[in-house]
Order: sequence, then structure tokens, then C-alpha cells
Amino acid sequence: MARDFDIIVAGAGPVGLALVGSLAGAGLRIALVDPQPAAALADPADDGREIALTDRSVGREDAIGAWAGIPADAVAPLRHMRVLNGPSHYAMHFGAGEGTDGRLGRFAPNHWLRRALHDAVAARADVSLLPGRSVTSIRVEGRAARAVLSDGKALSAGLVVAADTRRSLLRTQQRIPAALHDYRQSMLVCPVEHTLPHGETATAWFEYGRTLVTLPLNGGPLDGGRSSAVMTLDRADADALLALDDRAFGVEVSRRYRNRLGAMRSAGARHAVPVVTAYAQRFVAHRFALLGDAAVGMHPTTAHGFNFGLLGQHALASALRAALDRGADVADPAALRRYESAHRRETRLFFAGAEAVMRLYAVGDSLPARLLRDAALRLGNLPPLRHALAARMHDPDLGI
Ligand SMILES: Cc1cc2nc3c(=O)[nH]c(=O)nc-3n(C[C@H](O)[C@H](O)[C@H](O)COP(=O)(O)OP(=O)(O)OC[C@H]3O[C@@H](n4cnc5c(N)ncnc54)[C@H](O)[C@@H]3O)c2cc1C
Repeated sequence: MARDFDIIVAGAGPVGLALVGSLAGAGLRIALVDPQPAAALADPADDGREIALTDRSVGREDAIGAWAGIPADAVAPLRHMRVLNGPSHYAMHFGAGEGTDGRLGRFAPNHWLRRALHDAVAARADVSLLPGRSVTSIRVEGRAARAVLSDGKALSAGLVVAADTRRSLLRTQQRIPAALHDYRQSMLVCPVEHTLPHGETATAWFEYGRTLVTLPLNGGPLDGGRSSAVMTLDRADADALLALDDRAFGVEVSRRYRNRLGAMRSAGARHAVPVVTAYAQRFVAHRFALLGDAAVGMHPTTAHGFNFGLLGQHALASALRAALDRGADVADPAALRRYESAHRRETRLFFAGAEAVMRLYAVGDSLPARLLRDAALRLGNLPPLRHALAARMHDPDLGI
């Protein structure tokens, strides 16, 4: 029986889009399904997220033809990182010198990344973009997977790839267990202007039970600067901050950041998302693959979710292309296994380490927790660990 498509990708988020971009010219007919309306996919709303990208990730965006679609003045350099532990003066620093070319990474707004990726794939003749509907179930029947859509239509394909968020419906539906952790916190993001310069330094203050981050952006007052304030807070606290007017928010946020960047004022809309992490026990099944946050949903404070998503889609696209070159089926089990083991190798330890640290900092203010946090920070400053962390930030796929 002829299949409608070679691949159905469920989820036109940045990682699903990137996979479709990486498969350009492979001779595959691809359907890309997403519940968002066409206009929201083509012109995504600003969600306040500034995505830290490694140079390797920028290279991947470029190869897909998406990097050129992001305005140069929307991209800000990251040269230094500082991690502070509560009120302690002990800090962990990563300088640009620890990367390979004087820069640790770059920040680009999430909505620009999504728009540019969409533009790179939407007009392609081999891609059918199916907005306004979701994939509700999948059943494998012989040489095809049959995907049922929310509008009642059914489509067949050789392979279904689910990039359908960290709370992936299709992962559950395929009975793939995942370690899901709900931190019962929200991450609140807001652009702010401040009276002291940021020095192209991202700073994370691990306070007790909350984390306060500033990400350096372009623009702002001449003698000060503009940053993205990123706060991980109890949900009720985040809701209270969302409800303040701009003036009161500026006063409150300056106080919470202890005026480290001087007086702050709100410079745009506030957004909050619940903090949930996920790691799937398997990334593949018969004619099925998990990708992006659906496979590995990192804690957002690590700034690695999308970087790992790009890494995963590259591994999957490469494995599929190699299988097609050998004349194998698009869902060749050996190719899917190759993707799974490469992506697991690259993400598993980092995910586990990040979870241990984030859970340590998410809890309150007890003395044992303080001592453990202090020890963890000092351990992280040992030369071999510092080097490993800086290298990871610079490029998460060293060694592939
Ligand atoms: C505040 C914040 C800051 C972050 N900062 C960074 C950073 O600095 N660096 C970094 O690397 N990462 C960062 N991340 C993580 C990054 O944003 C995510 O890893 C990335 O968005 C994952 O992309 P995705 O395409 O896998 O999933 P998503 O972006 O979640 O997209 C999933 C898509 O699937 C669609 N969908 C859902 N269900 C279905 C279905 N059944 N059928 C079809 N489609 C479906 C949805 O509509 C959506 O479009 C941050 C995250 C947050 C919350």
C-alpha cells in the first residue's frame, strides 16, 4: 500500500522544524503537523525567551538556512558567565578565554529562531505544513505508521517523529516511560533596563528556593544596559510578580537582584512557564522516534534544551540519510538505534548532573542544604570540572 508521506513530524516547534530543515534534499515527502494556526507558526508571538546558543548550534541553524533570517541586532554575544551561591562571595566564573574563539555563545530571541526556521522550510515542495491540527494517535500497521489527526483524518507514513513538547502525548500513547519532574516552580522572564553595564556577562544567583539570572542583551541606556531577567520562583510568587504594574515590578526586581546591575525597570512584557523536566526511557520504537523536549526536556536554567534538540535532530537526520543511502527503509531499525544511542550518550550524564544541582537549589534554606550547595559550587570550581563545564557550554556535542 502506498504511503501518504515518508515521514510525519508531530510538532512544528523549533526542533521539529529544524529536523525538517536538515532533511532538505533527501528526496523524502514530509508532513509537519502542529495544532497552532498557520499565522502563529509563520509569525510566532514574542514569548520573552532569549535562547543561549553555542557556536555549533549557530552553525546548524546556518546550514538549515535559518540563521540569516534572524536580524543581526537581535543577536547578543555571551562572553562571560558567573554563578553565585546565595549571599556567599564565592563564585564560579567562565571566561570567554575558556571557549575556542573568545565567545561562550550567543543569545537569540526564541520567536525569531522559530520564525526563521519556519521560513526556511515552509515554502519547500517536499514539505506539507498541516497547521491547526494535532496528531492524536499512532498505530503501526505492517510497512506503515498510521497517524490519526484531531480533524479526524488519518495519514500513513514510514516513520512518525514526535517533537510534541516535554509532556509528549505521543510518548505516552506509545507507552514509552519518562522520568518527569514537576518542580512546582515557574520560570518568569522579562526584559529589563538597568543603570549599570552587564559587561556581556550572564549571571546566575542561586538563592535559597529561587534562582535569579540575568542574560546580557543589546541596547538599553548608554551608561547602563538591557538584560533578560529570568527568575525561577514558587508559582504563587511568580503569579504575584506577574500581577504588579511596571513601576512596582521595577522596584521589586531591583530589590531582589540586590541592585547588582543598579536600578532596574521593566522594558517589555512578562511571561511565566511551569518548570517541568523530562527524560524518556527510550527515544525510538518501531517506526517511531522522539525528538526535542519530548525526548530530553532539560531544566530551562541550564540553557541547553534547544542546543540538545539541535544536536538530536542532527543525529537523527544523519542516521536517516545514511540508511537511505544504503537503500534501507526510512524507519530502518539500525538507524533509529544509532540515533538513540548517540543522543543518549550526549545527554544522559549532563541531564542527571543538572537535575541533581537544580533540585538542590530548588529546596529551601536548611543548614544541610546550604552546606551541600556551597560544597557543590566549590567542587565545580576544580580545574577539570571547570574545563568540562566551559567546554559543554561552548559546544555540547564535542566528541561526536
Ligand atoms: C524560559 C525558557 C528559557 C529557555 N532558554 C533556553 C536557552 O537559553 N537555551 C536552550 O538551548 N534552550 C532553552 N530553553 C529550552 C527550549 O526553549 C526548548 O528546549 C525548545 O523550545 C524545545 O523545542 P521543541 O520543538 O522540542 O518543543 P516545543 O518548543 O515545546 O514545541 C513543541 C511543538 O509541538 C506542538 N504539539 C504539541 N502536541 C502536539 C501533537 N499532539 N501533535 C502535533 N504537534 C503537537 C506544539 O504546538 C509545539 O509547537 C528555554 C526554555 C524556557 C521555558
